[in-house]
Amino acid sequence: MSSPPSKKQKMSASTEIKYTQIFINNEWCNSVSGKTFTNINPSTGEKVCEVQEGDKADVDKAVKAAKEAFRWNSPWRKLDASERGRLLNKLADLIERDREYLARLETLDNGKPYKDSYNIDLDLTLKCYRYYAGWADKIHGKTIPVDGPYMSMTRLEPVGVCGQIIPWNFPLLMQAWKLGPALCAGNVVVLKPAEQTPLTALYVGSLIKEAGFPPGVVNVVPGYGPTAGAAISGHPDVDKVAFTGSTEVGHLIQQAAGATNLKRITLELGGKSPNVIFADADLDTAVEMSHFALFFNQGQCCCAGSRTFVEESIYDEFVRRSVERAKKRKVGDPFDDQNEQGAQVDQEQFDKIMDLIESGKKEGANLQCGGKRSGDKGFFIEPTVFSDVQDDMRIAQEEIFGPVMQIMKFKDVDELIERANKTIYGLAASVFTASIDKAMTVAHGIRAGTVWVNCYDVLQAQVPFGGFKQSGNGRELGEYGLQQYSEVKTITIKIPEKNS
Ligand code: NAP
Ligand code: MG
Repeated sequence: MSSPPSKKQKMSASTEIKYTQIFINNEWCNSVSGKTFTNINPSTGEKVCEVQEGDKADVDKAVKAAKEAFRWNSPWRKLDASERGRLLNKLADLIERDREYLARLETLDNGKPYKDSYNIDLDLTLKCYRYYAGWADKIHGKTIPVDGPYMSMTRLEPVGVCGQIIPWNFPLLMQAWKLGPALCAGNVVVLKPAEQTPLTALYVGSLIKEAGFPPGVVNVVPGYGPTAGAAISGHPDVDKVAFTGSTEVGHLIQQAAGATNLKRITLELGGKSPNVIFADADLDTAVEMSHFALFFNQGQCCCAGSRTFVEESIYDEFVRRSVERAKKRKVGDPFDDQNEQGAQVDQEQFDKIMDLIESGKKEGANLQCGGKRSGDKGFFIEPTVFSDVQDDMRIAQEEIFGPVMQIMKFKDVDELIERANKTIYGLAASVFTASIDKAMTVAHGIRAGTVWVNCYDVLQAQVPFGGFKQSGNGRELGEYGLQQYSEVKTITIKIPEKNS
């Protein structure tokens, strides 16, 4: 990873907002209703700008444009697969050219530390686009031996119009996870960014046009979930919806698909991931990685290690060191690179987190540190650690999506696996141990889409990511992610039995 270009800069004030309209057919337009919504800077609680509020009428326009771009013999459909790869690489180059600006915009809109936006979000975003650029001309079918005078083969064809609905915790990266595989496989897209964080998604719209994607291939409609989002998931001409967000809305998306055209659905939902520390683990590493697993991105990660299970014999020492580490965590202005933690995304999330902290106190968990607002403006929360957490407490069951760590105690592996699986979720898990036997037992026993051993949050474009149970449907990233953007077509050809 490269370094940010400069030392501490007061950059937020100087960030020019270039795009606030709806992006359809490579053009910018206002909402049909004439409505706008206010974009807020979570670090100050102040208004940044007004953004055009897309709704059903705008989604209809965007889907029409996408459908036209997908028409048989359209420029996009006639483009060589290798050219799709070239366009994606060009897009990555443009994102890299504007890396500093995009990182600033992301921090302004989301409240995450600028150094994280620049180093982590932009790095993974670029790698994701480049990874899928490489796939574009390597998506191919099979020839299959069949009975009789026939030859059968498969072609992998694009699914068609893909609705993509993304959350606010990693706006640029979630856009890359969606656009990368969709475009490399030849699909067209109507994307709705989260209402809290539309700015980088819209800027990438301008880069899509600059890179040379034909009009209508990518359309970006900012707006609210129950209106613009629901218009996408219920649209009869949308062939697939890829959604990342809460499990609650995941249910609504799947219902909308069932009620309309049985569109394909991939869902990347919530989690309450167990992070297991055995007594034989390297304690320094386990404490630091468990801290990272929970507090990274202000705790706003679907795969956050939010149930820390610690073996009885090291429990007190682990809690002591974790509290010491959390107290050292610097919270404040995300443009000050001394700070590790920025603001929560909005007032609603802030209130939800504070409510869960109160519930933890009431239900008898031991508040070791934090628990309060940090500073006097914006949505900052002190790093918070609870010990003596019981499995049935709300803080052990519900996704907090904030800087609040729960530490539980366990005695043996079988009991641990049973408790770790006692959740509706199954997104990720991790285990810290020096024993390969313990690591493999836990890795096999926990029902989750990803298990990290002696590490956390190693998310790379090459490896699939997604959930068991109510953490989702399907996988993103890697070759598995690509399969979800293709339909398999069988073509069978009669071979003449004799020459005439
Ligand atoms: P959310 O409501 O699930 O939002 C995710 C996306 O879905 C946003 O673009 C949202 O639009 C849209 N949406 C909302 N209602 C919709 C509907 N009826 N039909 C179609 N799309 C709809 O998540 P949130 O409210 O931002 O956060 C709530 C909780 O979700 C968090 O506390 C966390 O537990 C979880 N979450 C999970 C992830 C993840 O990565 N798995 C990410 C973010 C949040 P708006 O712009 O109106 O919000
Ligand atoms: Mg914002």
